[in-house]
Amino acid sequence: MEYFKKEIETISEEGLRAVQNEKLRLLVKHCYKDVPYYKELFDQNGLKPKDIQTVDDLVNIPITRKKDIKSTYPFGLMGVSLAEVERFQSTSGTTSLPYPLCYTKKDVLTLQEQVARAMFCFGVRPGDVVYQSYGYGTFLGGISVDLGCRGIGASVFPAGPGRTALAMHWLRDLKPKAISCTPSFARHLATYSMERGIDPKTDWAHLKIGMFGGEPAAPAVRKKVRDAMADGFMYHEFYGTSELFGNSVATSCEYTCDHSELHVMADHFYLELIDPATGKRIDPGEDKEGELVFTSLSKEATPMLRWGTNDLTRYSRNALGCKCGRVAHPIIRALTGRGDDALKIRGALIFPSEIEDVVTKVEGTGDGWQIVIGNSDKESLQELIIQVEVAPQHKDDHEKRGLIRKYIEDDVYGRFSLRAVVQIMEPEALPRYESKSIRIVKQ
Ligand SMILES: [Zn+2]
Repeated sequence: MEYFKKEIETISEEGLRAVQNEKLRLLVKHCYKDVPYYKELFDQNGLKPKDIQTVDDLVNIPITRKKDIKSTYPFGLMGVSLAEVERFQSTSGTTSLPYPLCYTKKDVLTLQEQVARAMFCFGVRPGDVVYQSYGYGTFLGGISVDLGCRGIGASVFPAGPGRTALAMHWLRDLKPKAISCTPSFARHLATYSMERGIDPKTDWAHLKIGMFGGEPAAPAVRKKVRDAMADGFMYHEFYGTSELFGNSVATSCEYTCDHSELHVMADHFYLELIDPATGKRIDPGEDKEGELVFTSLSKEATPMLRWGTNDLTRYSRNALGCKCGRVAHPIIRALTGRGDDALKIRGALIFPSEIEDVVTKVEGTGDGWQIVIGNSDKESLQELIIQVEVAPQHKDDHEKRGLIRKYIEDDVYGRFSLRAVVQIMEPEALPRYESKSIRIVKQ
């Protein structure tokens, strides 16, 4: 087995704990001394840095959430002077102003190491070409993959999102070994190319590694992408958040990628899986859903102690001791959905990716679909309206259209005990997304 940084990747549990505790003590001192938000949080709770000696002591610090940092905009989380900032990134700011997140020179190098480690684990090697199709600007996805390529010594083709008509040719002619993009764009790109006479199985046969992230993917979407590609194609995943430090907080390995599980990069991110009902930690080995709460152990500029992601998942049944050698870096299951995207329909919590799974599995549906919520609040919906495209070959088949509608309604009822209203749309009637998909629309 080859590793990018063998010593830390194959470290023992005890060794990892020692590394985490040492980094945590320094981080806590830095946060108390240099970050106004944490100074105030510690003082309000009667805490001093000396009270936090090990990762077990973290439970004494309150969890920080999006709503808590809103009032600290723009620099209340900053632990260095502006002159020390090499780079700004920001959150997407769907509900408020995008929050600036900063990187010192050292932070950029740490990010480079994290992403290089993840991509090397996916199979990228020096000299390989990587087709990079995440966004740039203040979004972290594109620059992260660029840095990962630099760390490994791979070549990056920085296409950015979209440009589908060119992408299908570039993927054939430049012979990249890996592609980075959202799962929905990969699916769209494959369908689009096949309709135009380019077959990913043969024309992109050199493409062996998908590095997907930016949005949760339904199992049926993952399957469609895998099925479209040549034999031996590996569907790898990044999980991260802008607040934490980028896209490599948790990533798959060759033993976890087929069942959508991810190793947490635990020397950089200390994970606590918190039971939302009790606020207590769930241990590896317990099969219980919890919120991912992370402490960014290595960040200088805008560090996070106990960041509540609002994302729910569970530990893998085999959370520790993976065959890949990363025995102490715990394995979590891939997310069904980001907490912020959940819909509440008559009291039931549903993620768009769960609806996507139903829609994608029904034979005869096209690539486009969306949930329409009218003017309602997405947390108090009374009715679930799903619009879904019919595949072009069934466009004029009224019987087929009726069957598609019936199957989706039956499957939604079977899974969620909810009656959905399904509207069948013409092929290409709904939008395609080049980066993160928008599946919930107001009409
Ligand atoms: Zn592994």
